[in-house]
Amino acid sequence: MASYNNPKSNFLKVKCIDCGNEQIIFDHAASNVQCIICSKTLVKPKGGKSEIVAQIIEVLD
Ligand SMILES: [Zn+2]
Repeated sequence: MASYNNPKSNFLKVKCIDCGNEQIIFDHAASNVQCIICSKTLVKPKGGKSEIVAQIIEVLD
């Protein structure tokens, strides 16, 4: 698994902790990103960097 310490923006494949849905999110979101299945918040904007509230499966370029 790729380590997650890259300071530049990335797209991430994440897995919803609640329902197991996998979706692609942008790790620099300006607003909350919700799970398309259960509406759980997956990403919260936090001072320019995003707080990921989901399991990161893969970091995409
Ligand atoms: Zn979900």
